[in-house]
Amino acid sequence: MQTQILERMESNVRTYSRSFPVVFTKARNARLTDEEGREYIDFLAGAGSLNYGHNNPKIKQAMLDYLAEDNIIHGLDFWTAAKRDYLNALEEVLLKPRGLDYKVQFPGPTGTNAVEAAIRLARNIKGRHNIVTFTNGFHGVTMGALATTGNRKFREATGGVPTVGGTFLPYDGYLGEHTDTLDYFEKLLTDKSGGLDVPAGVIVETVQGEGGINVSGLEWLKRLEAICHAHDILLIVDDIQAGCGRTGKFFSFEHAGVVPDIVTNSKSLSGLGLPFSQVLMRPELDVWTPGQYNGTFRGFALAFTTAAAALRYFWSDDTFERDVQRKGRVVEDRFQKIAAWISEQGIEASERGRGLMRGIDVGSGDIADRITEKAFANGLVIETSGQDGEVVKCLCPLTIPDEDLLEGLDILETSVKQALS
Ligand code: PLP
Repeated sequence: MQTQILERMESNVRTYSRSFPVVFTKARNARLTDEEGREYIDFLAGAGSLNYGHNNPKIKQAMLDYLAEDNIIHGLDFWTAAKRDYLNALEEVLLKPRGLDYKVQFPGPTGTNAVEAAIRLARNIKGRHNIVTFTNGFHGVTMGALATTGNRKFREATGGVPTVGGTFLPYDGYLGEHTDTLDYFEKLLTDKSGGLDVPAGVIVETVQGEGGINVSGLEWLKRLEAICHAHDILLIVDDIQAGCGRTGKFFSFEHAGVVPDIVTNSKSLSGLGLPFSQVLMRPELDVWTPGQYNGTFRGFALAFTTAAAALRYFWSDDTFERDVQRKGRVVEDRFQKIAAWISEQGIEASERGRGLMRGIDVGSGDIADRITEKAFANGLVIETSGQDGEVVKCLCPLTIPDEDLLEGLDILETSVKQALS
């Protein structure tokens, strides 16, 4: 395999090509093929940006048709037929059936761009700087978003510039299962000497993806919403990784029945892996003045086209979400068995997750790395997450055929046994 130029020219900052040092050439749904014709089952799915699999034919056809007709492609915030069509799909397929009423901002195309816009909007609305965020939260690595991201590796890579404007509080379960961490938040808000600057907003992932598949309880989320309402604080749900169906509902907060003030989406939003993000806000929160937040790429027309196709194809009824929930139970069941086997070997392990966002916590990044390395050698692309990379994380395409899902789980089980023998 010719990798010399890739190794020589691409910055040291590269990551995934270190775990998977082959040249990938083709992909279809949950299968990747490298240059030498070797196939891999994909349990990473572009870090959750390919919930509908690689090259989904229906979504790709929408893009090809659009391209064939000399339509507008650029990403300035012009009105285009593609944008109109996407907004129609968003309203008709997603928002109205869920009783949700949001206006939409298209910031830059990445997740961190959406988070930057969301927290700045919250600050402008409330005239307060502070944003409460949670331990192990990951919201991106640009400076504003980084202030709400817990991981020290990223926080220390700013050349000494401090990240400001975020206050970390314990996520659900952080202090053990018997402590409701929101008691602390509520106490800080009511105690005038608690030292917490009253926040403009709280940003939360309902399931922490990069932080190690930490799942917040549905009651905890409801209580968080109630605390925000009681103290005039905006609730921002960062659904960049947990959204677009990953947890078994389009919006991960649907499980808890909460209605965030602001929502961020990106990753799988375009349906085809194209860079695309959005911020949803309750209509009365749209305090932006024209051009107050700008950028060249604010709504990529190709992504509007593919995102609209994905919404119409997968979300017009509940067939897809029920199938995701079914597959989630298959993964949960097998992960529990694998975790139990690991524990029998004297290494404490457990499984957790919601829908098809699941992980096995093996307690150590070294062990998790050994497992994922074996898995790759055996034909499975899977990654780790958590503060030390101690959680082997399944983010397979939601569209994965059952045969591939079972084969991927078999490979993982074999790899665990090889890694620990
Ligand atoms: N928010 C969450 C919950 C994420 O998982 C991520 C990326 O993994 C981001 C924000 C940042 O997205 P991006 O990497 O596209 O900037």
